[in-house]
Amino acid sequence: MNLLIAVRRSLGWKLFLSYLLIVIVAVVVLAGTANLHTSTALNHHIAEMQDALHRGPDAAADLDASLHAALNEIITVGALVAIVAAVLVSVFTVRRIVTPLQAMIAGSEGIAGGDYHQRVAVAGQDELGVLAMAFNQMADALEQTDRRRLELVGNVAHELRTPLSSIRGTLEGLVDGVLPPDPATFLGIQHEVARLQRLVQDLEELSRAEAGQIPLNRRTVGAVELVSPAVGRLQSQFADKGVALGVDVLANLPAVWADPGRITQVLLNLLGNALQYTPPGGQVSVRVWQEDLSLLIAVQDSGIGIDPEHLPHIFERFYRVDKSRSRAGGGSGIGLTISRHLVEAHGGRFWATSLGAGQGSTFLFSLPLAS
Ligand code: ADP
Repeated sequence: MNLLIAVRRSLGWKLFLSYLLIVIVAVVVLAGTANLHTSTALNHHIAEMQDALHRGPDAAADLDASLHAALNEIITVGALVAIVAAVLVSVFTVRRIVTPLQAMIAGSEGIAGGDYHQRVAVAGQDELGVLAMAFNQMADALEQTDRRRLELVGNVAHELRTPLSSIRGTLEGLVDGVLPPDPATFLGIQHEVARLQRLVQDLEELSRAEAGQIPLNRRTVGAVELVSPAVGRLQSQFADKGVALGVDVLANLPAVWADPGRITQVLLNLLGNALQYTPPGGQVSVRVWQEDLSLLIAVQDSGIGIDPEHLPHIFERFYRVDKSRSRAGGGSGIGLTISRHLVEAHGGRFWATSLGAGQGSTFLFSLPLAS
């Protein structure tokens, strides 16, 4: 049973058995043909042998020659038939190995030419089957990358269009004299240019994060040191909007192994979102506690919440639940994608929960402990 499984999964075993099969077929066919052809061959030479017997002193030598001739004929006919049988069996076994390889060569050429739909049939569990499976996985990954690249180009073009149209409209209004050249008009243009700049910065950061090229200056950092900078920077904005901001860091928490600058960037994104999506009078809290070998950091708000159907997508780049609301707040839908990459680069996990629209949301991430 084990041998059967080993043979199924090993190309080496299959090649060995196919050689053995060719040899066995050749030998059996040779023996069978020789048996069948013996009487015919002897009949061909029987007259010569009878002549030799009547010839007296040279009888032995002539008989020997006739027997050899009969034997040669039997072997030649048997060998020819055996070769034909061996060639037929070889063609069959070689095709079983070469056909999937040819399919993979054709598939690779298709992919090299930009056709990412190429897939090959997975036949068997041996190394060729495994190779075909790996080929299909590679084709899947390439197809997804290509799709994401096209999506990215489309999204970037879309994101650039709105501020550019707005700037162009304002400039045309100024040229035609429809809009007054006063500070309010120029502030509008400045606002759109700032949005474009933020978008370009976010895109640069995103491409570096996705390529895993953001350097991390990791060191041992305490929990309080980790959350204080971001909280300190946004405190006045929370107060201005009338949203309460609470911080709850458990005492004696172990330190984490992290880049504090990058974690501040993540917290600024989460707190900025919480502030944007929580109406005045609401609450936002930052909590830190330990779970196994990680510190967990949660930013919870009592804001607009996120419907379950949107939750799995909010970490995708350019995904925004409410496009107009996000855009009005200067959002491009890239912040959470970058934050997720930053947390994952630290070896942590990032996720969100919400009971639905109007029920607030919680964003959580984990960071590995320093030891
Ligand atoms: P943006 O710059 O648009 O805020 P993010 O990547 O930070 O981009 O967030 C993606 C989307 O996730 C937002 O557009 C918003 O729809 C949703 N979102 C993020 N944080 C919150 C939150 N605290 N409450 C409700 N929705 C949120």
